[in-house]
Amino acid sequence: MATEFKSISLSGRKKDVSNKDMTFMEKLYLPAMAKGMGITLRHFFKPKVTIQYPEVKREFSPVYRGRHILMRDENGAERCTACGLCALSCPAEAITMTSGERKKGEENLYREEKYASTYEINMLRCIFCGLCEEACPKEAIFLTQDMPPADYQREGFIYGKEKLVMKNEQ
Ligand code: SF4
Ligand code: SF4
Repeated sequence: MATEFKSISLSGRKKDVSNKDMTFMEKLYLPAMAKGMGITLRHFFKPKVTIQYPEVKREFSPVYRGRHILMRDENGAERCTACGLCALSCPAEAITMTSGERKKGEENLYREEKYASTYEINMLRCIFCGLCEEACPKEAIFLTQDMPPADYQREGFIYGKEKLVMKNEQ
């Protein structure tokens, strides 16, 4: 038995759903299939709004904030002194680090006497707000225009120094 559900539409666009019995033409499905094919054909020749990522990359806004980089100075030494201000300012609590004391002979590796022996950012927590970059007094951390790549494992989104510190060009 057919039942009709009536409801109030504030926008005037809502359609009432009914489970009335299908007509012979509706049971054939052919008109509906032809209509669907028509819609497909119409969109087939329209310009595509999708892109073939990662082969094709969309141009980002100049203010886009992507994955982080830990900078080196002009001599190739790491700028970060493990002061912790970036971690303190992070609203997502995504940054953790431990500090180490620079030893004699390591002046070319670390710019100051204290450095980050470990430094990690959890990219699953990060909201790319840029506050870590703002807080850093040593210009040691920046957000780049690179998008963090996809991964199948959660561990792959914990970025340590091997992923964060900029490559040494020397
Ligand atoms: S960009 Fe924002 S959320 Fe991400 S690590 Fe920096 S401060 Fe935290
Ligand atoms: S990145 Fe900057 S703010 Fe963060 S610990 Fe290093 S020096 Fe301090």
